[in-house]
Amino acid sequence: MTGKLIGPAPATAQEPATVRPADTVLRMMVTDLSHFLGLPEEAPGPPSRLAGHLGDVVRATTAGDAGEPWESALPCRRRPSHRACPGRMIVIRAADAGTPIRWQCSACGDKGVISHWEDSPYELRR
Ligand SMILES: [Zn+2]
Repeated sequence: MTGKLIGPAPATAQEPATVRPADTVLRMMVTDLSHFLGLPEEAPGPPSRLAGHLGDVVRATTAGDAGEPWESALPCRRRPSHRACPGRMIVIRAADAGTPIRWQCSACGDKGVISHWEDSPYELRR
C-alpha cells in the first residue's frame, strides 16, 4: 500500500492502474506540509495517514537539535512484501530558516523532504 508521492492523494477509491506516481522511479518523497494542514487526523484514507506520518516526522525533527541527523523512534510507514519495515526515521533539519526537513528510513532507504513545516501545528521548536 503506497500513497501518492507528491501532494495529497485524492480520496477516490478507484484509480486507473496506469497512474503510478513516481513510485517506481523517484524515491524521494517531496511534500509540502501546508497541503496537509486542515485534514482531520481521524479521517480515513491515505491522505490523512500520510498527513499523520508527516506530522510525526515534523514533531520528531523539531524536538531535536538542528543541524544533526538523529534516529527517531518513529517507525517506517512502508510495508515491503506486506511486512512492516523495521526501520526508524532518521531526521534532520538545517539550522537555516526556511530549509525543508529531510527524513530517511534507517532500513529501506525510503526518504523525503517536507517543506513549509515552520509555524505548523506540528513543530515543537519553542
Ligand atoms: Zn523503511
